[in-house]
Amino acid sequence: MPAMRRTLWRRLGLAVAALLLVVAAVVAVGLSDVSVPDTSRFDADLGAIRALAVSTGEPLPTELRSQHVGRANGVPLTFVVAGSGFADHSFDFYAYQLVYAGGHTVLVDVVNDEQTQQAQFPGSEFDAAAYARVQEALRRADATVVTHEHFDHCAGIAHSAHLDEVASKVHLTDEQLRSPEAQDAGFTAELRARFTPLKYERMHLLRPGVVLIKAPGHTPGTQLVYTRLADGREFLLVGDVAWHQDNIRLPRMHPRLSNWMGGEDAQAMAHQLRWLHDLRRTAPELHQVVAHDGAQMQDYQRRGLILDGLL
Ligand SMILES: [Zn+2]
Repeated sequence: MPAMRRTLWRRLGLAVAALLLVVAAVVAVGLSDVSVPDTSRFDADLGAIRALAVSTGEPLPTELRSQHVGRANGVPLTFVVAGSGFADHSFDFYAYQLVYAGGHTVLVDVVNDEQTQQAQFPGSEFDAAAYARVQEALRRADATVVTHEHFDHCAGIAHSAHLDEVASKVHLTDEQLRSPEAQDAGFTAELRARFTPLKYERMHLLRPGVVLIKAPGHTPGTQLVYTRLADGREFLLVGDVAWHQDNIRLPRMHPRLSNWMGGEDAQAMAHQLRWLHDLRRTAPELHQVVAHDGAQMQDYQRRGLILDGLL
């Protein structure tokens, strides 16, 4: 082989090796996770949240209900909890309803319509009858909020046939309405103009026993929903701050690749996970509810803490 051609092959080989190294490095970094810090800088105080929840002295909700609407299978677990291997994991989709004596209700998260879900998760499971119940609950609700502006939590509002009827009772935050994610969930500029943005600092009393807590990170408009029932039971709907209860229990984030794909503020989420993890010890009576964790929801329902199906 002439010397010149040999040099060319050697250079090509080196270039391929370098490219493979870069790809391997990106994959390795992508599958690694931002570590959860030892102490949290997340700005929330459970004592203040609890005090605000009961501050009006008005009757608290009597029950928390959930409605399972869909399931997306086949997500490798390691994208949900970093370093957990490539076993198949499912995402379950729920709407939540707080019921007051006398029949008043608050709806939290409105999932998505079937068309949106099939476009995002082709071949995923969707229960059309359950979705119809969520839409009826949306019509009846005195107030509706979402944990965040991703399609699987709010496209059911954007694509609702009852939008005229419900728009004044849907309280999307300023951050949620401004977020590009809301656009992806079907909230066009024209649609967004029909909602009065909810503006608050840190926390907000939505209804007696229901407090919203700002938690930007997963998305700019992410908020936690704390609720205290009349019998003293307490819940914290954490939305997608965690995708699996193990994100909080261990605590461990999903990997950087998930952060990058979702445009997340991983540091903010890491501090929120530390706060939630510590609450398991300091406030074990507070039941944390992770939006897409079907096993956790089934456990809460088995124990009678959350009732199955919306009114
Ligand atoms: Zn979600």
